Amino acid sequence: MTAGAEPLVDLLIVGGGLSGLTLLHRLRQLCPGRSLMLVDQPQRLAAAERDPRLLALARHSQQLLQQWQLWPQLAAAVSPISSIEVSDQGHAGRLLLSADDQPPFGCVVEAAALGRALQTALLPVRAAAIEKIERLTDRVRLTLDDGGVVACRLLVLADGGSQRWDQVLGQQRSVKPYANQALIALVDSNRPHRGRAFERFTTAGPLALLPVGERQFSLVWCGTENECLTRLQAEPEHFNQLLQQAAGYRAGELRLLAERNVYPLALMQVERLMSHRCLWLGNAAHTLHPVAGQGFNLALRDIDCLARLLAASTTDDWGQYSLLADYERQREGDIAATVRFTDGLLALFANDHLPLVAGRNLALAALNLLPAGQQLITRRGMGLGNH
Ligand SMILES: Cc1cc2nc3c(=O)[nH]c(=O)nc-3n(C[C@H](O)[C@H](O)[C@H](O)COP(=O)(O)OP(=O)(O)OC[C@H]3O[C@@H](n4cnc5c(N)ncnc54)[C@H](O)[C@@H]3O)c2cc1C
Repeated sequence: MTAGAEPLVDLLIVGGGLSGLTLLHRLRQLCPGRSLMLVDQPQRLAAAERDPRLLALARHSQQLLQQWQLWPQLAAAVSPISSIEVSDQGHAGRLLLSADDQPPFGCVVEAAALGRALQTALLPVRAAAIEKIERLTDRVRLTLDDGGVVACRLLVLADGGSQRWDQVLGQQRSVKPYANQALIALVDSNRPHRGRAFERFTTAGPLALLPVGERQFSLVWCGTENECLTRLQAEPEHFNQLLQQAAGYRAGELRLLAERNVYPLALMQVERLMSHRCLWLGNAAHTLHPVAGQGFNLALRDIDCLARLLAASTTDDWGQYSLLADYERQREGDIAATVRFTDGLLALFANDHLPLVAGRNLALAALNLLPAGQQLITRRGMGLGNH
């Protein structure tokens, strides 16, 4: 196939979720002379501004957003996390990770506020869906559902892991659906949390309470499909009782404040982060269980690495294989370690086998006493990855 007369840009991003929007924002800052384009379906482009989730962002992610000048617009939507209490329902072990007099571990940010900050003056964004992708030697050509055809030197797939293009782009991915789904909601407590987050492992799955404001928490509560449906449909009073039973009273008396949403969960990972003129980013490259709040933190580290590599490259052609291979080499270790950390945490706490229960309670108690073990969890929790 030969190159056509369609418009040609340096880089085209498919997907205007948080990953795609953040990459576009960062590249516009670092490489103002380059031609960039982002394509997403019209109804989804506005969705980032209404995302009901609250995201736990590690200290390192916070520093990146500050460097990228997004912080001033987020200030009103941020709550610091100064300590994290990890416990196992019905057992004595408890781990308290505390930032003490250091800066907080990280913070909780409204995903919608980040979406709004990113969408401010974000052009060129094309409201369309991709219908066809063709890879040529020197470009990738895309046919859009609005009849348009565009081409790019480098195609970044930030489409959240839709597997639609895997076959045509020669991608393989492993998908491990979890039995659990996650219900998220905003709840309040009868006492101030002072920045403490709670992560509790219950027989039905993990439950996280992330501090928001003075007395509120963002709840992420995992359970089977049926359990999540019951919790979704329960009258608020009944919901509060179920929640209190599962969460205990360490975070105070909890009460539902706002609408509940349920998300299906899976661990998904692509085999290669790149192939000829294509690169996979964010959830499109790795979708994690939200138990340890690592998904977007990991995507931010991917974006940081990619943007720095592209900005430093001396080539005109961003689709050059060696550039993409460099990106893959630099990112694969951190991604693999973060996947292992998240999946390992789930495997450890999803098990009711007695020796394992005893073992993990000992481990929680021991980690309280062992600064080195704490440091390891804390480093990863703070989003330091392999840095
Ligand atoms: C319940 C829950 C809680 C979470 N909590 C945390 C947390 O505390 N901390 C954290 O770091 N992470 C967390 N995450 C993960 C985080 O939400 C994601 O990592 C983040 O939203 C980034 O997503 P993304 O932009 O990569 O993909 P998505 O948000 O899925 O966006 C993909 C975009 O691609 C578009 N698209 C798809 N196909 C096409 C096509 N053919 N043409 C054009 N566009 C297309 C879609 O319309 C969409 O806009 C959580 C996730 C869940 C489910």
